[in-house]
Amino acid sequence: MINENYLKLSESYLFSEIARKVKAYKAEEPEADIISLGIGDVTQPLCPAVIEVLHRATDEMAVASSFRGYGPERGYDFLREAIVKNDFLARGIEIDADEIFVSDGAKSDTGNFQELLGKNVRVAVTDPVYPVYVDSNVMAGREIVYLPCTAENGFVPELPAEHVDVIYLCYPNNPTGTSLSHQELYRWVEYAINNDALILYDAAYEAYIQRAKVPHSIYEIPGAKECAVEFHSYSKTAGFTGIRCGYTVVPKHVAMKNAEGKRVALNPLWNRRQSTKFNGTSYLSQRAAEAIYTPEGKQQIKATIGYYMENARLMREALVKMGFTVYGGVDAPYLWVRVPNLTPNPSSVGGGSSWEFFDWMLHSAHVVCTPGVGFGSAGEGYVRLTAFGTRENTEEALRRINDKL
Ligand code: PLP
Repeated sequence: MINENYLKLSESYLFSEIARKVKAYKAEEPEADIISLGIGDVTQPLCPAVIEVLHRATDEMAVASSFRGYGPERGYDFLREAIVKNDFLARGIEIDADEIFVSDGAKSDTGNFQELLGKNVRVAVTDPVYPVYVDSNVMAGREIVYLPCTAENGFVPELPAEHVDVIYLCYPNNPTGTSLSHQELYRWVEYAINNDALILYDAAYEAYIQRAKVPHSIYEIPGAKECAVEFHSYSKTAGFTGIRCGYTVVPKHVAMKNAEGKRVALNPLWNRRQSTKFNGTSYLSQRAAEAIYTPEGKQQIKATIGYYMENARLMREALVKMGFTVYGGVDAPYLWVRVPNLTPNPSSVGGGSSWEFFDWMLHSAHVVCTPGVGFGSAGEGYVRLTAFGTRENTEEALRRINDKL
């Protein structure tokens, strides 16, 4: 028999449905020049510091004395040490290199980490949410509690009314582009400690934070090393969506109870899981990741992030001028845009539906966005726009939306 849980998954992955609609429209209108501000992929190339190291590492692979085969289970020391020094010690956070697990990105790790959890744990996610947390738990047969993030609560989820064992948080947030302050995140750490819960914290967009009040890591919050696992990705930090590299921090004190009520540390379990099912990300990818911590690398990736955040600023400004209500885009490369009432429809509250607006954008402005409802029911009435386009495309998309409104 198959795993019936797969049949409970929503039929089509959001981005496949978008691709299907775009393909169908292109077949109808082959001349249409479509700009995508939909899927969250980057457009700028890898920085020179990374390219240089990739060439050097490739040459090492050509010589027997410097050739590398299978790497160490948790990742190469050179990368884990650079992570500890630059991402944590530089912020006053003490993390041991043995608490770092290098991965091929945050999608795999945020999707796989639930394997360490009992089948009956209660899992909470925000709504809207990055779909991987939900789908990976549905595949495992778990029930999910949704914490709505709406304009009314400023996109800050309320603490769960019923007990939950595990909470996925992602800040800066995909899809809403909003962030949490130290104080807001502190409430969650306090909840986890008081309720014996685990926080799975996705920091994939940490490099986009602009304001000092926004924490880059959950470990900036006292107590988080007892209750939180943190996921990082170089995909958006350094344009590694194709190269593939990220890492997960599993502090040694983070534990969950076994059937007898005894606390079991997650670090050795994650090591066991990874060494059984994952053979590491390539030596080249790990050398490439190390290169972003050099002075040149840091400066170069900062410039690219600055380029995308300037797109975000231009988008916010133009859309607000056009009369849209816009959230996010300040500490994150995503804008969460309230759908206007294009075709007055008494059944839709405060505006049209996400998919109606998606269709309008595609057909009228030839711009692809992501329907907010694809990230959860609280996303209905919103669309997500990304700042990862080229400047030229971003400006052209804004012009078209303005002209067609
Ligand atoms: N987490 C969030 C919230 C994301 O938006 C993404 C990518 O879109 C990922 C994780 C996956 O990142 P990676 O490319 O490292 O797998």
